[in-house]
Amino acid sequence: MAIGIHRPTKITLDRDALVHNINVAKAPFADDINIFAVVKANAYGHGIREITQMAKQAGVTGFAVAILDEALEVRELGYEKEPVLVLGITSIEYIVDAAINGISLTVGYLEWLKAAQPILDSEEIPPLRVHIAVDTGMGRIGVQTPADLKDMVKFLREHTREFNFEGMFTHFATADAPTTDYFETQVANWDAAIAAVNPLPKYVHAANSAATIWHPNAIQTNVLRLGAGMYGFNPSGTDLDAPMLKPVLSLTTEVVFVKQLAKGKSVSYGATYHTSENEWIATLPIGYADGFLRRMQGYHVLVDGQPAEIIGRVTMDQMMIRLPKKYPVGTKVTIVGQSGDQQLSLVELATYANTIPYEIVTNLSTRIKREVK
Ligand SMILES: *Cc1c(COP(=O)(O)O)cnc(C)c1O
Repeated sequence: MAIGIHRPTKITLDRDALVHNINVAKAPFADDINIFAVVKANAYGHGIREITQMAKQAGVTGFAVAILDEALEVRELGYEKEPVLVLGITSIEYIVDAAINGISLTVGYLEWLKAAQPILDSEEIPPLRVHIAVDTGMGRIGVQTPADLKDMVKFLREHTREFNFEGMFTHFATADAPTTDYFETQVANWDAAIAAVNPLPKYVHAANSAATIWHPNAIQTNVLRLGAGMYGFNPSGTDLDAPMLKPVLSLTTEVVFVKQLAKGKSVSYGATYHTSENEWIATLPIGYADGFLRRMQGYHVLVDGQPAEIIGRVTMDQMMIRLPKKYPVGTKVTIVGQSGDQQLSLVELATYANTIPYEIVTNLSTRIKREVK
């Protein structure tokens, strides 16, 4: 019996939109630019199985994830040759799994390499693929000075049986900001890091979506690490425009119950909503356990191209909306996406929730089925 198909709540993924977004992102770069699809956190909640497949067909050269388990999942999904880079720090105790599966690990300091080296010193284990993280101003992980970077490179090149020095990269903190001073400081630090390494490794990369979209000519990079931009939501929220992106994800459901409530009745936990007249109220099979946040009360969805307010508290698995008029059970409801000539974006939803679209999508739970259009 197939599990996960018995509820109308679903995420629909638009293959053409994803292809479009990748093409738009790489247009300003050289033809041989590498694209690593960033598929951490279940492909930003979109569904790792579906997105890896769509991205591969769209021509991406590799994948990037946050943790080793996600990298192994990508291998298990059948991507055996593509580079898969773990962007976070991996504990030394797991490095043999990484090496055997050809996973590329991010390393941020020399002691890590020194501790890993004797473990990897074996004929049975292929050289561990390593990308050095360079902290040019993000302040999260990575080596801070060209001198320390050089020490790491030297150690890697002295231990080529244990390590394959495959890449170096940095990450921008403000590539999505309206002002560019801090970004330019990071670019200068990155240029200095590159100048300190000779020869350079195969992958030298600095571009997240924001840098790709808004600063393609300012950065030295031969890989684009595309997350938000590939999924088609604006990495800056509303700070900068990205009109060329097309959203890949829509979230829809259906009315499963509908009733008229008389004036003065209340709806949901805490009885916080009261009808001000006779109202048509529909119940939708989605709640905060699906990642649709409780604080979305008061926001709206689209029914037949018209807004319908979310009334009363969002519960774990269900929520109620006020319909503009009577609609039958089975009526389609759009939470993210297009309905008639109306559109609801992830950015709008996130703005209402006082957060960023990244946090909204990564909360969409695996209970929601995913379909590719
Ligand atoms: C998550 C992540 C990315 C992708 O960021 P987007 O803004 O979604 O493109 C790129 N690089 C690193 C190091 C990351 O952690």
